[in-house]
Amino acid sequence: FVVFDHVQKSYDGQVLVVKDLNLTIARGEFLTMLGPSGSGKTTCLMMLAGFETATHGEIRLGGRNINQVPPHKRGIGMVFQNYALFPHMTVGENLSFPLEVRGLSRSDRAERVRRALDMVQMAGFETRRPAQLSGGQQQRIALARALVFDPELVLMDEPLGALDKQLREHMQFEIKALHERLGITVVYVTHDQSEALTMSDRIAVFNDGRIQQLATPSELYERPQNSFVASFIGENN
Ligand code: ATP
Repeated sequence: FVVFDHVQKSYDGQVLVVKDLNLTIARGEFLTMLGPSGSGKTTCLMMLAGFETATHGEIRLGGRNINQVPPHKRGIGMVFQNYALFPHMTVGENLSFPLEVRGLSRSDRAERVRRALDMVQMAGFETRRPAQLSGGQQQRIALARALVFDPELVLMDEPLGALDKQLREHMQFEIKALHERLGITVVYVTHDQSEALTMSDRIAVFNDGRIQQLATPSELYERPQNSFVASFIGENN
């Protein structure tokens, strides 16, 4: 469904931050990019989202080169650590906005906003503004906004990084449940080993712009392929 085919990326002709990346992600899969800061995970997500272009190689989505599909037609929802909600808009307006851009009617928008808020257990919060919500609630709204137009693919970059431990574990469970219920494909970026091990179907362990190992959580845990993977997976566990 998503294919990185010999993808390389450098910023401004500098050193490569992504080095010959090959990765195929199946439809419906929960794939986590796990690795230390600066290993190139976010850059991969940004290329998939269309905010950055690959220096070499090709990224395909549903068989089409991603550069040939306009961003709003890619069917990609996104969730970031800093939520990126519009502070001057209400929760309802934040959710309605991506639908308006896609030309949906007022009644269709209202119905979808209601459904998305239900999904994240935030029904009744339409008229609040982001500043009137807790961090966890804001993150739920950000999640609802990513889901509101029924995307086939959702990209998440450290979405729970700003939450405390207890809430983070709760949201991990909820995101996983939504993934299973909706059958969407999720590409998830984190540097948190235990988060990756709990949530993912497969994990791509990144270091220095390369995938060191691509495996299921149990394979990774039981049979790390090299010393980097072994020590990185072993940390904090
Ligand atoms: P983190 O978890 O800290 O976000 P990461 O694994 O996601 O790390 P990237 O953000 O992809 O890593 O960064 C990889 C490298 O690319 C880093 O060395 C970073 O400094 C560099 N980089 C990222 N974005 C830019 C940019 N817009 N311009 C120049 N260099 C960049």
